[in-house]
Amino acid sequence: MGRGTVAEISLGAIRDNVKAIRDALPDGVRLMAVVKANGYGHGAAESARMAVDGGAERLAVAYLEEALDLRAEGIELPILILTPIHPADVLQALRHELMITVAGADWFDAMRKELGGKLPGKLKVHIKADTGLGRLGLRSLEEWEALVPWLKADDIEVDGFYTHFATAGKADTSFLERQYVRFQEMLGWCAASGIQPRHCHCAGSAAALRFPGLSMDMVRIGAAMYGFSPAKPSLEIALKPAMALKSSLIAVRKLVAGESLGYDNSYTASGEEWIGTVPIGYADGWHQGLRHAEVLVEGQRAPIVGKICMDQLMVKLPRACPAGTPVVLIGNQGGNCIAAAELAMHLSSVPQEVSSSLSPRVERVYIS
Ligand SMILES: *Cc1c(COP(=O)(O)O)cnc(C)c1O
Repeated sequence: MGRGTVAEISLGAIRDNVKAIRDALPDGVRLMAVVKANGYGHGAAESARMAVDGGAERLAVAYLEEALDLRAEGIELPILILTPIHPADVLQALRHELMITVAGADWFDAMRKELGGKLPGKLKVHIKADTGLGRLGLRSLEEWEALVPWLKADDIEVDGFYTHFATAGKADTSFLERQYVRFQEMLGWCAASGIQPRHCHCAGSAAALRFPGLSMDMVRIGAAMYGFSPAKPSLEIALKPAMALKSSLIAVRKLVAGESLGYDNSYTASGEEWIGTVPIGYADGWHQGLRHAEVLVEGQRAPIVGKICMDQLMVKLPRACPAGTPVVLIGNQGGNCIAAAELAMHLSSVPQEVSSSLSPRVERVYIS
């Protein structure tokens, strides 16, 4: 028996979302399913398997360890690691047939020094270009020219060339257009150097669903496969949220006017109020920034009151309810719904911050 706070993951929703996105994309566009950060909190291997069932042909993760975990789970699809790996780990990547991201000549220089010879097989690399996100990737023609000789080594295969947008969810598309133009210009550098990447990709969920014309020959889909809809999509796809978060009251008490609760007496009752305690707190990833959010109890919205504790939070109940009464933190109850997007607004963030923040202490239960 767990403590009764569970994230219920619908595997069918993930599979259906991937399939629906794939079907809506222009012909010939491959779907790379992004399962980093434990599949945005939904379980990496489980999400990867459903993505494969839905028609994904590639997977992506942020770090080498995440890719190794997927291989250990028996996942055989090509996997791209989105963050450059340590040069000393190159043999591990090769042994597990992982594709790596490279951003500059320095990495190759360090890798060759570390290795002291040829690689025992062909290493597939995706070159990352920084067209405006300012995070990772090569930026200048000089950096590109320094990289070219390393890419031409016969144990290296340029499988991809990619960039990532900074404003794909924004109404104003001018910065995105500038990034796309810059990316095209950088692709021109490739052609001029005689390097033909097998795949070119720039779109994540928001760009792919808003501007399918930017799909090139591959898109990297994270948020949307878990049912998080980008703003203003032009592809009308009914995405299904894959995660519900459920708990139940572990204690109920009545407060009278003037009585307070919570650390620092952070809430004071203004009249007679029924208060329920829910076993989830900031150590579960339910951030303090959610202290003014609501939960569902008996199909009604119940506001969180007082500061969120490490292991519990308190809610103001619509009426006296017994301990054991079900509580929904994400999902539907009695015709009411709290979406991860609503919670994200409290955090000035995106729904995937809510789902990926849920710590391992929150049990995942899979339903098909
Ligand atoms: C996380 C990530 C994605 C997935 O983005 P979504 O908006 O979740 O679809 C795509 N590309 C890169 C480089 C990423 O880091």
